[in-house]
Amino acid sequence: MSMENKDAIRVILLGPPGAGKGTQAVFISRSLGIPHIASGDLFREAQSKGTELGLLVKSYMEKGELIPDEITVAMVLERSAAPDCKKGYILDGFPRTIGQAKALDKALEDKGDTIDKVVYIKVSDNELLRRLSGRWICRDCQTPYHIVESPPKVPGICDRCGGKLYQRADDNEKTVKNRLSVYSSQTVPLIDYYGDAGKLVEVDGSQGIDNVAKAILAAVNPSE
Ligand code: ADP
Ligand code: AMP
Repeated sequence: MSMENKDAIRVILLGPPGAGKGTQAVFISRSLGIPHIASGDLFREAQSKGTELGLLVKSYMEKGELIPDEITVAMVLERSAAPDCKKGYILDGFPRTIGQAKALDKALEDKGDTIDKVVYIKVSDNELLRRLSGRWICRDCQTPYHIVESPPKVPGICDRCGGKLYQRADDNEKTVKNRLSVYSSQTVPLIDYYGDAGKLVEVDGSQGIDNVAKAILAAVNPSE
């Protein structure tokens, strides 16, 4: 292992759509001083820029289906190789399949690196539906809000950057149900995958935002 990477911390936030991964990533990123890499945000950015990748992934995202592993892995590995990731990063929404997890492990292993912690944020399906149907997101910095749980100070405007808030097209009931079923069949196996590797920490995501943040920080912060 190189000296440069010795102090790095790499964390995966694992959990169903709506569990609070993006919400919590904002706190951990600030607290540990490492970037937040959300595969969904990267795909949405590609779509809004109208890139080739954006056009390729559009129909998968509209239906709530997963984008093929090869495309997703290449995109995330490229992002995680950027200079700001030297001290580590928080992965949100990636990996989502065993294939993606193995590709990530292999890429890290080749560099003598590893994933330190996988935080599994557990929340019931009913609560996920409630959260996703009330979710609003900043078009510019992607911060998530909730009409009841964490409303912005000024309706429709992001507290952090002043950007406009919008509701994701795939947060409609039909697509959410498909995303939850895709999560059960393709992503749930990762709980055992990382459990067997001794990296999994389970956090009760049904608590309020602040308590979930405290539980996650205690689990990932090496100084705690
Ligand atoms: P994910 O990134 O896992 O899909 P988000 O972080 O976007 O989930 O959260 C989904 C919705 O639930 C958002 O509207 C967010 O404001 C809200 N939310 C997040 N954490 C909590 C919580 N602990 N309690 C209540 N609502 C929450
Ligand atoms: P998210 O923002 O994490 O809810 O992801 C939104 C959509 O982006 C998903 O429904 C998928 O279509 C796609 N996506 C995001 N991350 C991945 C991933 N790791 N693997 C495959 N598809 C993904």
